[in-house]
Amino acid sequence: MATLSVVIPSYNEEKMVPITARTISSLLQDAGISFELLFVDDGSNDRTWEEIEHAATIPSQCIHGVHFSRNFGKEAAIMAGLSEAVGDCCVVIDCDLQHPPEKIIEMYHLWEEGYEVVEGVKSSRGSESGLHRFAAHSFYSLISSATGFDMENASDFKLLDRKAVDVITHMREKNAFFRALSSWVGFKTTTVSFDVQERMEGESKWSTASLVKYAVRNIASFSTAPMQIVTFLGVLMLVVSVVMGIVSLVQKILGMALGGFTTVIILQLFSSSIIMISIGIVGYYIARIFEEVKNRPPVYYQQNLR
Ligand code: UDP
Ligand code: MG
Repeated sequence: MATLSVVIPSYNEEKMVPITARTISSLLQDAGISFELLFVDDGSNDRTWEEIEHAATIPSQCIHGVHFSRNFGKEAAIMAGLSEAVGDCCVVIDCDLQHPPEKIIEMYHLWEEGYEVVEGVKSSRGSESGLHRFAAHSFYSLISSATGFDMENASDFKLLDRKAVDVITHMREKNAFFRALSSWVGFKTTTVSFDVQERMEGESKWSTASLVKYAVRNIASFSTAPMQIVTFLGVLMLVVSVVMGIVSLVQKILGMALGGFTTVIILQLFSSSIIMISIGIVGYYIARIFEEVKNRPPVYYQQNLR
């Protein structure tokens, strides 16, 4: 019989761990799905790990856990959970039950029908302040254009077949962005939409500063476009310098310019545009090197008839 691994990244979730363990395990038992729950304690500094250890003593809940030496972040927790998981398919779900656990069953049935990646898509974003909503919207439109996938309503709530899990856990990238990687790997994909629930206990772990850091890091890991901005500016500067150069020359010919001014302005404009374009070219090669060191395999096979 197929087993389902449920990966649950948890950081300072002492109140949520017992509730989540109970809720998800009884749900899966009722549905007759054989499962394991894999809590990843992301270096919590409250009693999260003790709660996980305690929950693991209840045999019916089938709980395993790993405990990080410090807080490494949610992405690292998800990756570690996926590498530890032994199931034929894995679901990643938040510990705070903001991702409705009933949807796991729906995802599992889709997997049984043959889908290899089932993405949880937010049909509403839950309660978020205006500024947060705006920031999230800007980030997701940037990351969508960088990755070429629609990430606006993407979440980390997903089911992945063993095949996709193996692909993701064998990537050598240190800064993986799980949400986009699971689209990037491809495979037979479908979506399940869900409403983001209110957090029951504890609080969100994201500060504005950590969100900005997260956004910059993930945009950089999927796009080298920012590097090319300088090339664009250099070309713009070159156009400006040609125009300004002509203007200065005309002024010089008409005798309207100060002595030496024309030479200075032309030299200044041309040299800075050449420097900017050169930086852009160097940047382009760095971008290629970056692609290479990420070491993503060029293709994955869905099937192979050999
Ligand atoms: N989380 C984690 N490591 C962190 C921050 C968060 O493992 O450094 C976990 C957290 O325990 C929760 C999930 O990631 O299960 C989502 O976190 P949170 O609810 O704080 O984020 P939000 O729902 O506000 O986006
Ligand atoms: Mg949450």
